[in-house]
Amino acid sequence: MLPVLLAMTIAFPGAGQKLPPVKRAYMIGAAPQGVTNVTVQGRAVDVYRTGAWATMVDVVEGTNTIAVTAGSETSNHVFRVQKFPPPAPVTTPPKPPAPPKVWEKLEYCGDEPKPHPNGKAKGEIAIVIDPGHGGSDTGAISPHGLFEKNANLLLSKALANELRQRGYRVLMTREEDVALVLTERPRLAHKENADLFVSIHHNAPAADKDAAKSRYTSVYSWNPLGEALSRRIASRIAAATEGEMPSKGSLHANFAVTRNPEIPSCLVEADFITSPEGEEAIFNNERRGVLARAIADGIEDWLADDGGEQK
Ligand SMILES: [Zn+2]
Repeated sequence: MLPVLLAMTIAFPGAGQKLPPVKRAYMIGAAPQGVTNVTVQGRAVDVYRTGAWATMVDVVEGTNTIAVTAGSETSNHVFRVQKFPPPAPVTTPPKPPAPPKVWEKLEYCGDEPKPHPNGKAKGEIAIVIDPGHGGSDTGAISPHGLFEKNANLLLSKALANELRQRGYRVLMTREEDVALVLTERPRLAHKENADLFVSIHHNAPAADKDAAKSRYTSVYSWNPLGEALSRRIASRIAAATEGEMPSKGSLHANFAVTRNPEIPSCLVEADFITSPEGEEAIFNNERRGVLARAIADGIEDWLADDGGEQK
């Protein structure tokens, strides 16, 4: 017996039709008369009384070949699905610029600047010296492994002696190799109602700079009150180290120890401990005396000022 070839028409998608980029498509066809068992992709679909059938099929990008069986007749129905557009590049919205950092003053200090001590007897003038770092905080390290914390203490003690010899009352935040909390260092100046505060450090260059070649002196302050003192000290240090290294003079910085609205405060970077010449000079007693006298001279220059706007 000859097999009976049955006509099968598929109305949608038409053969070779290109569908938009979809993941599922609706297929509609007509089964030959009397045929009720239609499968599409191997799944049975409903055939209506009219002989029409419809079903959803999963499709892929490009060519789809869907096997449709109606009765004993199978045909492969071919159509295309458009490529999906490439996913839109993930654009991260531009970050809003960070608000400018507001450097808070030392919380335990008031806002009123202390009157300039001009005219006070030397013995009534209290000077706080703060040797930077200490204890586990070594500060910068010299080419031969010497610690900045020790260089700072040596210069601070020399400066304290110099100022005491000149008749001032000198207090130190540390006299030994101990660690102190940065923002607590100026508390002594606040408590003792000191007239000025000087933090002593020795510098190290930024990571991208040549440690062997970086060498200059600089003095930092946070507000005009500290700047008046900072300028006086910077100019004396510059004169004392002329020919040895350049001076960057008085610069603005937001160091915790200088954010004091009450008491003129500055931070001295006396030299670069990371440079071989700096290391040699820093650990030379005679040279330390020169620097101590220069800083003391700068302090006295400031004390002799009438205080300018600060008065
Ligand atoms: Zn330091």
